[in-house]
Amino acid sequence: MFGIRVLFYLVGIALVIWILSRLAKTPRVKQKPVKQVGSMVRCAHCGTHVPLNEALQVKDRYYCCRAHRDEAP
Ligand SMILES: [Zn+2]
Repeated sequence: MFGIRVLFYLVGIALVIWILSRLAKTPRVKQKPVKQVGSMVRCAHCGTHVPLNEALQVKDRYYCCRAHRDEAP
């Protein structure tokens, strides 16, 4: 039964190639979704830390909201 042995041999090789190709496609390191946290600034009025892009800046001071900005001296 030479033909069947060859067939099994070929199937075995094909299986190994398929597994190797799948392993090669699989990324080894999963990319973590890096959430960009912007630098935090401190409200000059109440001390609350707010993201820089949400803070209200007056000269070199930052405020968490318009009320605190208006209350500031
Ligand atoms: Zn504030």
